[in-house]
Amino acid sequence: MNAIGSFDKLARRIEQYRDEMVDLQMKLCAIPAIAPSSGGEGEAKKAEFLVDWLKANGFVDVTVVKAPDLDAPAGYRPNVLAYYRGKSQARTVWVMTHMDVVPPGELSLWRGDPFKAWIEKGRVHGRGVEDNQQDLVASLYAVKALQAEGLVPSYDIGIALVADEETGSLKGIEHVLQSHKCFRKQDLIVVPDAGNEHGTMIEVAEKSLFWLKVKTLGKQAHGSTPEKGVNAFKAASFFVAALNDLYKIYPGRDRLFDPPISTFEPTKKEANVPNVNTIPGEDVFYMDMRILPKVRIQDVEKTIRTIAAKIERTSKVKIRFEVQQKAPAAPPTSVQAPVVMALKKAVKAVYRKEAKAMGIGGGTVAAVFRRAGIPAACWSKLDETAHQPNEYCIIDNMVGDAKVFGHIFLQE
Ligand SMILES: [Zn+2]
Repeated sequence: MNAIGSFDKLARRIEQYRDEMVDLQMKLCAIPAIAPSSGGEGEAKKAEFLVDWLKANGFVDVTVVKAPDLDAPAGYRPNVLAYYRGKSQARTVWVMTHMDVVPPGELSLWRGDPFKAWIEKGRVHGRGVEDNQQDLVASLYAVKALQAEGLVPSYDIGIALVADEETGSLKGIEHVLQSHKCFRKQDLIVVPDAGNEHGTMIEVAEKSLFWLKVKTLGKQAHGSTPEKGVNAFKAASFFVAALNDLYKIYPGRDRLFDPPISTFEPTKKEANVPNVNTIPGEDVFYMDMRILPKVRIQDVEKTIRTIAAKIERTSKVKIRFEVQQKAPAAPPTSVQAPVVMALKKAVKAVYRKEAKAMGIGGGTVAAVFRRAGIPAACWSKLDETAHQPNEYCIIDNMVGDAKVFGHIFLQE
């Protein structure tokens, strides 16, 4: 049978799996895999469930690569690898997704239980259903459909389900790359963890990532006598406002990226005093910065310290920094790389759209591969509801993305 005939059969088979795919989404959603540092237990239970699923569905060489983590009740963070063998072992076509999810955030903003997925107008709602389960499930069913149709792909197919993507990947793909030699330079690595609503964005470059914890130290006092203390919250607020100048100080633009600028945003805020009538002596907030590759992280760091010194003088506080993440931009994947070409072809066949290689704000695991000298591309068709209340996955996208993976698996 020719390749086109095979793909049509495969696509029809995937279509028949629609309800099963939704069902798997809902089961996965009910196993919250939140990182210990975000108050969860890690991915062990979700991985166990998935390993059983993979074994029951004909995947071979199912392996769990465990990254030790004493903060997780299991004592480790699991990374699952599984294969479907092709005619040649010369390369492996990988789809890598992550099992971990972020916490639900403010529960009152949710219309339902974040961990009891519900369906509304062709969408599955729940924490993790888009990020990253939409494509995790899609990748599994693309392979299941190949098997059901008795199609043997040209090359081996690898499925990687990793841990710890949301909090830095050290116990996820970084650990797998260091302890396992399963990824090779000639492999095709698709990371469906970034994309746009039309499925036309193939991400090949990332910004540098710089996360900072900022602790402001003043002096606690009674609310009625602020002059006897130093209000750390107020000083930190002046500091946050001053840090907005970073946008003016680093105004560079790069059209490969969307958005085309560096971003400098205050995000997490730790609670201070529990009562209204105390002048807080300590304040903690965090900055999430995504910096264009041509700007050096060290320069931004220096600027921040200069601004901090000014606030320290004027507000009589001490400001302390703790780097949470500092990841210089990885060398980009070539816009001509085989994985980019394969994605373009598949997106055209399934979604009838021209996909384009571009850069984004960083933080996807593809950078880990690129730093290791292995080209990887991020692609997915999604609505970018990740990390939001009422996160959803459009069921058509999940099914469509499975066809895209299937198309790539069948390419010569
Ligand atoms: Zn993700």
